[in-house]
Amino acid sequence: TVRTRIAPSPTGDPHVGTAYIALFNLCFARQHGGQFILRIEDTDRVRSTAESEQMILDSLRWLGLEWDEGPDVGGPHGPYRQSERGELYAEYARQLIEAGHAFKCYRTSEELDELREARKAEGLHLALKPADLALPEDEVARRESEGWPFVVRMQVPDEGICVVKDMLRGTIEVDWAQVDAQILLKSDGMPTYHLANVVDDHLMGITHVLRGEEWINSAPKHQLLYEYFGWQMPVLCHMPLLRNPDKSKLSKRKNPTSINYYRRMGFLPQAVLNYLGRMGWSMPDEREKFSLDEMMAHFDVHRVSLGGPVFDLDKLTWLNGVYIREDLDDDAFLEALKQWAFNEEYVRQILPQVRPRVETLSDVAPLAGHFFSGLPKIDESSFESIKLEREELLKLLQFLTWRLETVQRWDKDALLAEVKSLAEVFELKMKAFLAPVFIAVTGSATSTSVMDAMAILGSDMTRARLRHAIA
Ligand code: ATP
Ligand code: GLU
Repeated sequence: TVRTRIAPSPTGDPHVGTAYIALFNLCFARQHGGQFILRIEDTDRVRSTAESEQMILDSLRWLGLEWDEGPDVGGPHGPYRQSERGELYAEYARQLIEAGHAFKCYRTSEELDELREARKAEGLHLALKPADLALPEDEVARRESEGWPFVVRMQVPDEGICVVKDMLRGTIEVDWAQVDAQILLKSDGMPTYHLANVVDDHLMGITHVLRGEEWINSAPKHQLLYEYFGWQMPVLCHMPLLRNPDKSKLSKRKNPTSINYYRRMGFLPQAVLNYLGRMGWSMPDEREKFSLDEMMAHFDVHRVSLGGPVFDLDKLTWLNGVYIREDLDDDAFLEALKQWAFNEEYVRQILPQVRPRVETLSDVAPLAGHFFSGLPKIDESSFESIKLEREELLKLLQFLTWRLETVQRWDKDALLAEVKSLAEVFELKMKAFLAPVFIAVTGSATSTSVMDAMAILGSDMTRARLRHAIA
């Protein structure tokens, strides 16, 4: 049976690219009556967080993508989190070393830098081959006996052409000379993506790997690892990456990339999913609006076109409007609104913000409007009241946006700490520093507390508003 998977790394916001790849894997599996698995690739212990993992699961589920096996639903091939499978990878690395397909490398980072410099100076390719890394036997023995840290690297051919098959691209040819002796186990004993990915795809019975084209360069290494282990390699399919309207790779500097943003902006999950389904793919009858069930029923991976699909916010917004008008009756519309922001949990957070500032209930809506809106229109004249040079003001908002990108746990205390320390950098009192932030976030010069507003609005909406104010 066909088994596909999505294998996100929980190192940040849930990316629309992850949802896009998940959608195509799910459709491919269902079209063949197979299964779709979710695996968490958290071997990067420094960058992986439990919060990020939870956000990825939540947002994929919000979109309506359901997996048959995964860390939260279990399954016969668990655990589905790589951090819980460490011993497996160590064992397989040991097997590779024993068979001569991998070796312990005791090179220090200074030596590696020197080797790379030397290659550069000779105009050679930068890939480090096993022969470059080799040390005299007695030196290896010395470092080993003295307990130097080491990594495990794979053997790779020095030259020749590696041919990899791809469902969409036919064959891909890569010169082995460009492929380095990839690290498989890091010095802390953790596997790299390559080893863990191959071992898990095999043990989890994955038959087809649909993933972003950014992984094409890894394919030769993976193919070689499958050969070393004597395992059958899954069929590979490298999907085109999503693009900004200017055709560059979709990036958060130019376009919101977090699913949380689209959710917070009030997009409907079915519209987002439909739009992602149109990224490089179309229905046989070319209709623009289709449900997940319809996509699964008509899916054909060979209809994926390789020209970079443009993720266009205006088109998505248009499609979302079509869904609201055509698909939601009053009951469903009401339900969507409730789920979005008109629910008790959300409204309760706003009460303390408005209570001290209103005299009648009818004062609430004008005052709290920014809690229920997207990107506010900013009246240019509001910034004029601020005693800061325009350039300084833009710099302040830009720096704050960058700072806020790094905040892991989004709460008022964390935000206050960031704002305080940045205010010091700008040599401004808190009040003066916050004045432009206030306008950017709430859209007006008089409103509820800006620090509370940022905490309640959340990371994605806050950053989007700051970016919007300086755009
Ligand atoms: P950014 O450039 O915005 O920081 P990124 O490339 O750093 O994005 P990652 O966190 O590396 O994003 O990627 C998260 C997931 O999203 C990965 O699985 C990656 O394959 C996928 N992804 C990132 N960018 C794209 C894209 N343009 N199209 C499709 N998938 C993408
Ligand atoms: N962990 C990788 C990612 O974040 C998985 C890539 C793959 O599908 O092989 O995209």
